[in-house]
Amino acid sequence: MRVIVCIKQILKVGRVHLDDHNNLMRAGVPGMMNPADKQALELALTIKNQHPDTEIVALSMGPADFNQSLHQAMALGADRAVLLSSRAFGGADTLATAKTLVAGIQKLGGADLILFGSQAQDADTGQVGPLVATKLNLPQVTYMTDGTVDQERHLVAHRLVEQAQEEVTVALPAVGTVSAPDTADEYHYPSLHAIRVSMDTPVTVWDETDLKLAPQEVGLKGSPTVVKRVFSPKQVERKHVQLPAAPQQAVNSLLEQLPVGIDLMEGGTHNE
Ligand SMILES: Cc1cc2nc3c(=O)[nH]c(=O)nc-3n(C[C@H](O)[C@H](O)[C@H](O)COP(=O)(O)OP(=O)(O)OC[C@H]3O[C@@H](n4cnc5c(N)ncnc54)[C@H](O)[C@@H]3O)c2cc1C
Repeated sequence: MRVIVCIKQILKVGRVHLDDHNNLMRAGVPGMMNPADKQALELALTIKNQHPDTEIVALSMGPADFNQSLHQAMALGADRAVLLSSRAFGGADTLATAKTLVAGIQKLGGADLILFGSQAQDADTGQVGPLVATKLNLPQVTYMTDGTVDQERHLVAHRLVEQAQEEVTVALPAVGTVSAPDTADEYHYPSLHAIRVSMDTPVTVWDETDLKLAPQEVGLKGSPTVVKRVFSPKQVERKHVQLPAAPQQAVNSLLEQLPVGIDLMEGGTHNE
């Protein structure tokens, strides 16, 4: 069985700057593996524990320094790593990112399970996993918290829904997007030996020629989405009014302050 884990390297929180075109400025800023992707890798490792014949491939699209997260993925237990990297891939929106990842997945010969983080902590659209599933015409389980693969090659997954957990079963091949836990305590840490071995293991690098993609299909040229403006929402000033303690006075005072005339004393009719 093969599990591909898609990993995005994000900039360390607090160091994020945008250029004039609202693209992230990465140069010189330390990166880290997106937390939800680490969780997706943890899930892949759990599946490998249950099915030792599993090969885990870490896959990323980005500049050369994304290698850092891919080596980390190998130190944590991924068997190999592939980086899709070229100047032509720069400035990709979610559609172009998904198209490039799909080409990488196909060049790898596909997979039984393709795992993503539910969201990347920087741009946070949550679109890439579902887009890849759609392009590959595969079933998908989103917002997974955990999962196993049973003997009939079904993914049995738990997913987070509002105030509840849902159990979903899908036949492989499938796509899953995995949510990051609230704390980092549940993560494994690689041993020093594993880190050293992973640093000596080369990452395979493919560009648009290897993936047989035309330059206009990928990166900025292949991206219909343009981020026009990024801004912090205006802070709304909140007011607080203290009402009198006596109930009748409190009601009278409240009615006086309501913006429209609501005559509750006369049977709750609305005077527009
Ligand atoms: C402030 C800002 C806002 C943006 N808003 C939009 C927008 O609204 N629409 C849009 O199309 N683009 C937007 N972008 C561009 C966006 O950053 C890229 O499209 C990015 O490649 C994927 O989007 P995401 O980070 O939201 O991924 P998400 O869909 O949130 O990521 C989900 C998962 O997909 C996988 N993944 C994502 N990117 C990669 C990668 N490069 N390599 C491997 N795996 C990956 C990871 O497993 C990740 O956890 C924005 C960029 C910025 C800086």
